[in-house]
Amino acid sequence: MIPEVVREKPNPWRIAQSQFDRAAAYIPDLKAGIKAMLRQPKRELTVYMPVKMDDGSVEVFTGYRVHHNAVLGPTKGGIRFHPDADLDEVRALAMWMTWKCAVVGLPYGGAKGGIVVDPNRLSLGELERLTRRYATEISIIMSPEGDIPAPDVNTNAQIMAWIMDTYSMHRGFTTPAVVTGKPIDIGGSRGREAATGRGVVISMVEALRMMGETRNPEQISVVVQGFGNVGSHAARLAAERGFRIVGISDVSGGYYNPNGLDFAAMRDYVQRHPKRILEGWNGPCEKLSNREFLELPCDVLIPAALEGQFQADNAPRIRAKLIVEGANGPTTPEADDIFHDRGIIVIPDILANAGGVTVSYFEWVQDLQQFFWQEDEINKRLEQIMIESFAAVAQIAKENRVNMRLAAYIRAIGRVARAAMIRGIYP
Ligand code: GLU
Repeated sequence: MIPEVVREKPNPWRIAQSQFDRAAAYIPDLKAGIKAMLRQPKRELTVYMPVKMDDGSVEVFTGYRVHHNAVLGPTKGGIRFHPDADLDEVRALAMWMTWKCAVVGLPYGGAKGGIVVDPNRLSLGELERLTRRYATEISIIMSPEGDIPAPDVNTNAQIMAWIMDTYSMHRGFTTPAVVTGKPIDIGGSRGREAATGRGVVISMVEALRMMGETRNPEQISVVVQGFGNVGSHAARLAAERGFRIVGISDVSGGYYNPNGLDFAAMRDYVQRHPKRILEGWNGPCEKLSNREFLELPCDVLIPAALEGQFQADNAPRIRAKLIVEGANGPTTPEADDIFHDRGIIVIPDILANAGGVTVSYFEWVQDLQQFFWQEDEINKRLEQIMIESFAAVAQIAKENRVNMRLAAYIRAIGRVARAAMIRGIYP
């Protein structure tokens, strides 16, 4: 195993704005003022939160909530708990949510939240107190009609339950529609947990079809980076459709077997591991560093971890034919150009991972109506939205001779810009 090379983390906000600028150039009727508005967030909140720790001390944590754009509807987007979270990352993720919702046609704008914390360092009680304090602090800009959070990196259904409960306690009545990704018992939606992974696999299948792939799924090798909510469900659903999962990684490193990994055994192992990771897994496979892992020979590579995985330094060495972005922001614009020149197809995050927010939308609709749907119906509607959106983006790519990222941005920015122009600038 070659030791990991430490690379500087690219600035996600610079990347998000540069992706926007590139796409905006393709939209001839985009007025300069609207462009300037869409290039910036609408509002940003930074909060410093004192939390009582188990040992009696008080620690102050930093949190953010950014609304990028609310032209099409309430803002929507997850909350991540990560030691490296910062305002520029949250801004970028909020902007990506605006385009993601627009590309699949949801009546939402984009937002994102983050707390600078390693949640593994906290006890359950500390995590709950931090979450409730954060929910209280952001409640001035959060509501079922205004801004609806959801899970993201290192947050889960229990954390959403605490947010829903805190908000409801302040209002004086139960308000399930204020947050999505909740447990089913308190107004969560069937199918939400697997929805992002499901959408990723639907996108992969559509992309393979677009590329004229005729082999059986068993002959198509898939590598999945990340074994959290997105990666584990994407790997499971791809394996269920018969694809050969040859690589899986998480924070403990990469695991590779060209004949296929025992996915189910790995999932069981993770569920029993105290830190919910693959550390110590010794099934039949080769152990790799993250860098080696991303450069594995395979047909499909699914990054489902953090931003900045593909940069100018490793993009020339990637051997996949297709990259389906389960994570937000895994590819820098420089790497995008290299992939384009090398004929590697990239299905961009704002399309490929939109399944999560799509089922979040279904959850919100069900909560508002207090009427709940069966899982089949949810999965069927999700599939329909993903397939139609994919086809529309592929059509734009063909007509404009651009890659799938630019095409997705052209569709998304066009939608938001049209709505902004029709509504007009207030006052
Ligand atoms: N955090 C997820 C994303 O990046 C889901 C957001 C949501 O459901 O609102 O798309």
